[in-house]
Amino acid sequence: MTPNYRQARYDEELLIEKAEKREVEDNPLPESIARNEAPKIPDLPTHKIVRYFNRLSHMNYGIDTGFYPLGSCTMKYNPKYTEKLASLPEATTPHPYQPEECSQGILEIMWELQQLLADLGGMDSVSLQPAAGAHGEITGLMIAHQYHKDRGEERNEVIMPDTAHGTNPASVSMLGYDLVEIPSKNGCVDLEALEEAAGEDTAAFMITNPNTLGLFETDACQMAEIVHDAGGLLYYDGANLNAIMGKTTPGAMNFDIMHFNLHKTFSTPHGGGGPGSGPVGVTEKVSSYLPVPVVKEEDGKYKFDYDLENSIGRVKGFYGNWLVLLKAYVYILHEGKNGLESATERAVLNSNYLRKKLEKHLDLPYGELRKHEFVLSGKKMKDKDLKTKDLAKRLLDYGYHAPTIYFPQLVDEALMIEPTETESKETLDGFAEAISSIMEEEKELIEEAPKNTAVGRVDETKAIRDSVLSYMMRE
Ligand SMILES: *Cc1c(COP(=O)(O)O)cnc(C)c1O
Repeated sequence: MTPNYRQARYDEELLIEKAEKREVEDNPLPESIARNEAPKIPDLPTHKIVRYFNRLSHMNYGIDTGFYPLGSCTMKYNPKYTEKLASLPEATTPHPYQPEECSQGILEIMWELQQLLADLGGMDSVSLQPAAGAHGEITGLMIAHQYHKDRGEERNEVIMPDTAHGTNPASVSMLGYDLVEIPSKNGCVDLEALEEAAGEDTAAFMITNPNTLGLFETDACQMAEIVHDAGGLLYYDGANLNAIMGKTTPGAMNFDIMHFNLHKTFSTPHGGGGPGSGPVGVTEKVSSYLPVPVVKEEDGKYKFDYDLENSIGRVKGFYGNWLVLLKAYVYILHEGKNGLESATERAVLNSNYLRKKLEKHLDLPYGELRKHEFVLSGKKMKDKDLKTKDLAKRLLDYGYHAPTIYFPQLVDEALMIEPTETESKETLDGFAEAISSIMEEEKELIEEAPKNTAVGRVDETKAIRDSVLSYMMRE
């Protein structure tokens, strides 16, 4: 029998009509806010809409599209299995107010994650609450403040090197501490300068190791000695953990407090304003100061512990960004300690392989070997009366995301590159070739880049001074 296509079409319309009617009957709107005219929704076939949104998605550039060498951000390839697990209803539907007896599975995962992170950081205990690295810094400094206060000490200074990431001085000033910046020597902390700066006013010394130049601070233990002798605490900014995981720990370097950027090192995509997570780890000395609640285990049952003796209190609503915590947990278990260690090895190998290739075209200040990232100077661009920014823009035409530029400020015309452990030799070779070709190109070509992207070069000053924020749908 030939099916009656007309009938099928008719039925579809009837269904829509019925649905609309039901909606009206179920949700009668007050007259005053009901529509008089049909909304102006363009009447488009599905394939046109699919093409439209597909085209938009191709204009975007992300880690799933190509190489993303942003330094100090660890844009690593985030495995899809963690995303998949974090989108299961068992993970997304629990309510923060549901009783502990009904959340034993989640609490167990949080408790185990606390232990795993403590082990990876060489710390004694961990709070999963802080929502990002910067939030961890603030939490850590609050702990240091309370610790000194309880000992009857007023210490109002925080020391950090001039290579510090911008969030470090920002956290310090948000808490009303005085910032003491010490100059680096050959890219690393100058012990004499630290010795001079440390004293009875020192609340803490903050550093990331390897530092933002990608150099490992081999004097970390001497730094700890200097700061501890002065009565201060040591804070480890864990953003660069991808370079030391499984090899050493901040605890082994005698740091007292640290944060982990789960969205950098442990599998949650970073950037774009998505939720982050910056658990804080501490050694025994300051364990009782952690924010509450922390998860504890008692006779095989898991519960929130609100009774830490000297706790600084809560730093976030509820218990931390649960789904980011879950992804980190799954990633750590999936990789195992050996897997994490080999991720570190590959990250460092990739970084040094690319550094060696790029050194031929751009300048590398401060010695040779780097950890997971390295910083080049684009000052050669000045020969053509161009800047690092022009090189970064031209890279977009070659299909690469630009590296971090103009940070750290210590390096003239800086380009900060972090290839991460997941990129292949072919990708790194391709990127190096792109830089090599750009360095041979005519000034005009570079100056006007990018030409192959959805949006060309924008006037950044005008964009800031004269921003037009609007929502627009093309007809
Ligand atoms: C990213 C980063 C931070 C801040 O971490 P957020 O999670 O972005 O707040 C601090 N220090 C260094 C070195 C970083 O790279």
